[in-house]
Amino acid sequence: MKQFEKTLILIYRRLPKWPVNFSAYRAEQTTFPACFESCIAVFCDPREWLKTNPLYLVVEKEPDVRAIFGCHPHFADHMDAAAFDMLNNLLERPNAVGLGEIGLDYSHKNNVDHDIQKMVFRAQLALAKKRIEPICLHVREADEDAFQVLEEVLN
Ligand SMILES: [Zn+2]
Repeated sequence: MKQFEKTLILIYRRLPKWPVNFSAYRAEQTTFPACFESCIAVFCDPREWLKTNPLYLVVEKEPDVRAIFGCHPHFADHMDAAAFDMLNNLLERPNAVGLGEIGLDYSHKNNVDHDIQKMVFRAQLALAKKRIEPICLHVREADEDAFQVLEEVLN
């Protein structure tokens, strides 16, 4: 899903008149797969939510694209009280279908402190539980801790 989000963002940003209509773009592309029915775009960087022209507003006009919102473990240190409020509001958007990607990433690609990651993961799981939202997990090299947090919050 993360890959598709990036792809979709790249498609939008490379077009001369961004934001452009994704449906029209699809129709013009001879290489766009005919089997495409719908997809989910992932908005998991809190800094993206606050931009002047956030992509989620463009994407929600597309009939075949749904969205999930959450804070990816790579960006856990950007999650504060205001971002949590924003996330709660984003989950009310008409095309929002869940919370993600959320989780823990202890790989060398992520420098965010493990305790901060766990705190943000825990808080988002609690939010998902309260709202009865589906979740999309990102867990890398952190299986044991992720299971522990999942059990702790969801049980
Ligand atoms: Zn991921």
